[in-house]
Amino acid sequence: MQELSEGCILCHQGAKMVLFLTGICPRNCWYCPISAERRGGDAAYANDRRIVSDADLIEEGRIMSALGTGITGGEPLIAMEALIHYCSLLKSEFGKEHHIHLYTGKAPSLEELRRLQGLVDEIRLHPPHECWPEILQSPYIPAIRAARDLGFAVGIEVPSLPGLEALIPVVPLLDFLNINELEWSETNANAMRSRGYDLEDCHHNAVGGARAWAEELLVHARVHWCSSVFKDSVQLRERLKRIARNTARTFDEITEDGTVVYGVWEHSGQAIPFDHDLYEAVGDQLHMAWWVLAEHAKHLPGTKYVVERYPNGGIVVEVTPL
Ligand code: SF4
Repeated sequence: MQELSEGCILCHQGAKMVLFLTGICPRNCWYCPISAERRGGDAAYANDRRIVSDADLIEEGRIMSALGTGITGGEPLIAMEALIHYCSLLKSEFGKEHHIHLYTGKAPSLEELRRLQGLVDEIRLHPPHECWPEILQSPYIPAIRAARDLGFAVGIEVPSLPGLEALIPVVPLLDFLNINELEWSETNANAMRSRGYDLEDCHHNAVGGARAWAEELLVHARVHWCSSVFKDSVQLRERLKRIARNTARTFDEITEDGTVVYGVWEHSGQAIPFDHDLYEAVGDQLHMAWWVLAEHAKHLPGTKYVVERYPNGGIVVEVTPL
């Protein structure tokens, strides 16, 4: 039986907001998947929303009915004041039970840990790949002990890379160890190719063979494998459904994937033969239930189509002409 962390349990429900605190990081891991747009910049994002003011973070948390937040980067600990500010804001707006987990590549100092007490619930350490063979002599070990003494749940979270078995001796010191399937990205593609790695298939970003590097650790109950497919098909889908339930209009259909589907009629000023409560006028378009539009399409002039998109005005997945 696997012992999932509290942060992972909420992530499975799609209930974790992702707060990308900063794109700045003193490390330069060859496998770093951060996009070129975010890397090295100090802009913060809540899911895909750029945070310009505190209200942006709160609004994003509300539209997905977030039960927790995972804070990532870049290196969040280099933006300590912003980290404390946003954690305090989240706890005061959503209650102290709003679960916050923090990723960091650093071994946090005692002073840093003390400042985060009561604000962060779970810490996920990412020791650099080159330090794994000497992990027991590294500064991560005293940091793990100190963090657990102070009441944090503490885990290691690393991508699946050759040599993972070197982390086995640390497992008893941790609450959990998460292994993320190594993922191909636009920014690490050259480094992947130069090491002879390739994509597992043409549908996902997973790197071929990444699961095999983790096998020896996966026999431990505290070790959890997080696949690329899971992130796409469960975590994202569940989060989209939560957003859709809060933001869909009465005529939007919410799909099993968490997308919304509606009909669009570009009516060009023609008389509208529908009740007001059946549609929304958006510029010179009429948005309405796709099945109502499909039923009347052949009697209506102008262009008509069905749109499927991520909720709350998100990316368009498909447009089907009627
Ligand atoms: S520690 Fe994380 S953010 Fe920093 S370079 Fe490595 S993978 Fe990227």
